[in-house]
Amino acid sequence: MKTFDIDRIRADFPILSREVNGKPLVYFDNGATTQKPKQVIDAIIRYYADMNSNVHRGVHYLSQISTDAFEVTRRKVQAFIHAKHEHEIIITKGTTEAINIVASCYGRAFITAGDEIIISAMEHHSNIVPWQMLCDEKGCRLRVIPMLDNGELDIEAYKSLFSERTKLVSFTYVSNALGTVNPVKEMIDVAHEHGVPVLVDGAQAIQHIAVDMQALDVDFFAFSGHKMYGPTGIGVLYGKEDLLNNMPPYQGGGDMIKDVTFEKTTYNELPFKFEAGTPNIEAGICLGDAIDYIQDIGLDAIKAYEEDLLAYATSRLSEIEGIRFIGTATHKSSVISFVVDGVHPYDIGVILDKLGIAVRTGHHCAQPVMDAFSIPGTVRVSLAMYNTKEEIDALIDGLKRALSMLL
Ligand code: PMP
Repeated sequence: MKTFDIDRIRADFPILSREVNGKPLVYFDNGATTQKPKQVIDAIIRYYADMNSNVHRGVHYLSQISTDAFEVTRRKVQAFIHAKHEHEIIITKGTTEAINIVASCYGRAFITAGDEIIISAMEHHSNIVPWQMLCDEKGCRLRVIPMLDNGELDIEAYKSLFSERTKLVSFTYVSNALGTVNPVKEMIDVAHEHGVPVLVDGAQAIQHIAVDMQALDVDFFAFSGHKMYGPTGIGVLYGKEDLLNNMPPYQGGGDMIKDVTFEKTTYNELPFKFEAGTPNIEAGICLGDAIDYIQDIGLDAIKAYEEDLLAYATSRLSEIEGIRFIGTATHKSSVISFVVDGVHPYDIGVILDKLGIAVRTGHHCAQPVMDAFSIPGTVRVSLAMYNTKEEIDALIDGLKRALSMLL
């Protein structure tokens, strides 16, 4: 394992040295988006200063170098997630678009009235609503894997949800609202025993846990660049070659075609069949720099550091009188959600902000999770590799101060 030099890492993130409300920034909203290292910021500037040009189109020099750089990212993603083929990497706007592509294209081709799709009780809205839209359109039905009181999925109940009508399973690797890490490999194997393909929402896993598409044998995998130290507006849909080849395209337009006449259009090969129009070129290229950055440090080292931080934060937060952790799964990653008796999460968030501490409050785009715990929302502390125990101490001091004002 590589050594983890927290001072060097923090120095790479310019925003971490700024102040907010006259206090040093303490950024604990990494589940929403991570900050960017200067390696990524510099790459964005370099792209516009040196290369800006459309991809996959021109014969001229700039178009060639930007196309090459964009395709280098595809290969970096392939290596990072250990996909078998480069053309199984579809560049999207983010996790949301990646899931919508599967719901729309796989759904259009393979799901009909009366069919069933299994999702879980802890999904982000982006892994609920696209399936509901499909159900409305096709007359199919959602089945939901229930959650136990500690925020783990009920795996026995999951096994009993399958029927001959089950056409797809889609669930998150890590819950953005609770931090629960699901037993993805076991869950994928269960679905495959029934001959059902699986989509895993990797939005909250990709920056914390090493993933391997071939070892997982997952059928589709979605994630966003901006949650892994990369730019916004870029993400990935991994899909197995056969499945992607058999699905109709998502959007029509430039790049996704081979030949167009008014009578007939033939579609391009993978991955371009699913990449209509000009992509977010700069973000696509610089996602590659974010991957380099993570790999330079090493996901094993990042995971070990973050697990230590999570344990420290959980133990220090337990000092707070009246705190109730929402989601106490045995296997958790990077997220702590909590409420405090008699206090609205929003009020805690506002006071912490005055102290320069950024946390998220509310339902975290996972309203059904909040409903399951009969609460309107939580305070969510979500960690990244640049956070420190000193920042957690600052959070505890801030929280004690906020509660002394609110209670
Ligand atoms: N799934 C999960 C688990 C998430 O945490 C998020 C972002 N909060 C998304 C999906 C959606 O990601 P994006 O907004 O980048 O498309």
